[in-house]
Amino acid sequence: MRLAAFGPPGAGKGTQTIRIAKHFKIAHISTGDLLREQIRLKTPLGISIQEAMNNGRLVSDEIVTNMVISLFHDFDKSGFIFDGFPRNLNQAEAFDEYLKKLGIGLDKVITIDVPDEVIIGRISGRLTCPDCGRTFHIKYSLPEKEGICDECGASLIHRKDDSAESVGNRLKAYHEAMQPVLEFYKKQGILEIVDGNGNIDEITERILALFKV
Ligand code: AMP
Repeated sequence: MRLAAFGPPGAGKGTQTIRIAKHFKIAHISTGDLLREQIRLKTPLGISIQEAMNNGRLVSDEIVTNMVISLFHDFDKSGFIFDGFPRNLNQAEAFDEYLKKLGIGLDKVITIDVPDEVIIGRISGRLTCPDCGRTFHIKYSLPEKEGICDECGASLIHRKDDSAESVGNRLKAYHEAMQPVLEFYKKQGILEIVDGNGNIDEITERILALFKV
């Protein structure tokens, strides 16, 4: 099962893709987490990544695509779900070409659809674990212990790129970049649009329903 899922920032794609990965026992791959790892490790690449992320911009296609392809080098490619990749047509085409060379392809691409106004409300309360990438919300998805990640015990943070200004930039960039990606996968007949309004369990159910025959 080879999947990719996207949605605007705050659509719940992080939470949902972790749940789907657990449900199907497949790998969860978040390009946002992989990029934040480079920042944390203070690699030379980390500096340009941090600059882009803090300004609500996408990291360059070259950095992201190379990162994903090198991760895939030694990776079980039979089951995975991408969280936030591909983010534009360039990345979608490059990854598609890479998979084609291996004689495989994505099975389903899931987009979580949420209106921009709803997103802005959600993002202001989002808390992120800097270590494992899991997200929580001060109203809708509290951690068991205040300020602490349920998954790994690290202290939760409010990400710099979750500020209102940064979110505005990200939503605009998201819509511009994703429209051609949706068309690309629609043409392949693998695009699934899921209504992202509602609580976390309802959305998971809607996603899982796509796999019931
Ligand atoms: P996320 O954790 O998916 O919300 O991503 C956080 C930030 O990481 C984004 O705003 C981008 O700056 C960067 N990012 C994550 N995935 C990608 C990607 N596939 N291409 C380019 N930038 C990305």
